[in-house]
Amino acid sequence: MKTNLKIPFALPYITDDEIKAVTDVLRSGWLSMGYKTIEFENKFAEYIGSNYAVATNSCTSALFLSLKALNIKEGDEVITTTFTFAATGNVIVHCGAKPVFVDIDEKTYNIDSHQIEEKITDKTKAIIVVHYSGQSADMKKIMKIARDYQLNVIEDAAHAAGGTYEEGKKVGSLGNLTCFSFYATKPMTTGEGGIITLNDEKLYEKLKILRLHGISKDAWKRYIEKDSWYYEVLEAGYKCNPTDVASAIGLPQLKKLDWLNERRREIAKYYNEQLQDLDLIPPYIKPRVKSTYHLYPIRLIKYNRDKFIKEMAKKGIVTSVHFIPLHLMPYYQKTFRYKKGDFPVAERVFENIVSLPIYPQLTEDQLEYIVKCIKEILR
Ligand SMILES: *Cc1c(COP(=O)(O)O)cnc(C)c1O
Repeated sequence: MKTNLKIPFALPYITDDEIKAVTDVLRSGWLSMGYKTIEFENKFAEYIGSNYAVATNSCTSALFLSLKALNIKEGDEVITTTFTFAATGNVIVHCGAKPVFVDIDEKTYNIDSHQIEEKITDKTKAIIVVHYSGQSADMKKIMKIARDYQLNVIEDAAHAAGGTYEEGKKVGSLGNLTCFSFYATKPMTTGEGGIITLNDEKLYEKLKILRLHGISKDAWKRYIEKDSWYYEVLEAGYKCNPTDVASAIGLPQLKKLDWLNERRREIAKYYNEQLQDLDLIPPYIKPRVKSTYHLYPIRLIKYNRDKFIKEMAKKGIVTSVHFIPLHLMPYYQKTFRYKKGDFPVAERVFENIVSLPIYPQLTEDQLEYIVKCIKEILR
């Protein structure tokens, strides 16, 4: 069958609100970090229900600064899932620490909370939890383990802005530090960007210093306050701040976030209904969790995954795979002696998982077409 439909895997949702926000900030004359960023941080913290928020230039920077703020250093171990994006593991390495991977739960694809305790040693300092596809991990059990062993918990909530935990609270309020991504394909975007939400005042002050060269005053204060040329370097800090251009995009995006997530939940519901009689496993979401459905990953039971991706591409539909487990990556195998077979569940899931397009702009026609193509291929 011939069609002109071309369906990309992901698309940012940009309207005149974001375009006006950008032109306004460009005309204001202040492009680097300033009042727009402060406004965005305040609004984001308010939305999440956290005491503080620190905006960054990416979620990767947010994760890295969080580890640094917790003083993670050479010789330390940080526990995390193997089923995640490169950034989650890389930032641990950047601190000189060792990433200690844990296998995943076969239903939710989140870190298997029952396998965490056996990985804890006297070197373990923190756990990085990833809320895969926007569904929160088993935080109740993970926070209990963290309390029992006095570990810090960083949440990699790159997929989960606006999602909730099982107890109904918004993701971003349980861990010590929660990192969100505003990359172009994530639940909300600023082009590139990230943010850390937290409640601890000392960590908040430390993060702000680490984010901008380790200096004691933020850039706008240096220029705005009288006699404000003076500053002190308290640490060899980093350059991880966002621009006000990015933060200006974040403000209207944040206003839309609940709607964007709701729209994706509707699409997920449609997929769930339409795909139920096929040889595939749809995403499983725990009854009390609200997922953002950043991803809609299915597992193919009989059909070859790689062939499926090619067949879908022939029909103009782009799909993707989340994730190739980190312990299968050459760097992690070479450096930390991980090998195939270490995490059988993640390997089994990776073997046949594929993510379908899921974003608010998908029209009914496009969704019908995607479902029709999947049925044609699998039958
Ligand atoms: C996208 C992503 C990141 C990195 O986010 P950036 O904002 O691109 O740095 C980290 N972790 C996970 C799980 C991601 O999907």
